[in-house]
Amino acid sequence: MSAIRGQNTSPELQVRRALHARGFRYALHKSDLPGKPDLALRKYGAVIFVHGCFWHKHDCSAFKMPTERREFWEKKICGNAARDAVTAEKLRQAGWRVATVWECSIRGKNRRGIEEVSNLLVKWLLNDTASIEIQEKARD
Ligand SMILES: [Zn+2]
Repeated sequence: MSAIRGQNTSPELQVRRALHARGFRYALHKSDLPGKPDLALRKYGAVIFVHGCFWHKHDCSAFKMPTERREFWEKKICGNAARDAVTAEKLRQAGWRVATVWECSIRGKNRRGIEEVSNLLVKWLLNDTASIEIQEKARD
């Protein structure tokens, strides 16, 4: 829903900038990879998705299923989430490690902020864990 506003400070761009500043280089939206990951770092065998919580149905404080046209939205958003799962599985089978950065980790009331998010990403890039999900701080 926020895709139109603030392109320049979108969570995806913040992630790109933070990693670039730390010397990481990546390819964007590679069309030969399942799901065209937002960032692909071949050297680290890793791809990174930056997902909006609404469109990708994140179970978090930022997500709320619309009450208007509920059936339409449920179908649409659940379809996106199901496709994300298939995409991640295809990538893993092709030998890629998969990171998902949720929008709520970067903006919103329970955010970690881009500094902490990029720290977590860098740590993950440098180890060999298969996947990581970065999301908002735990709620009480
Ligand atoms: Zn979220």
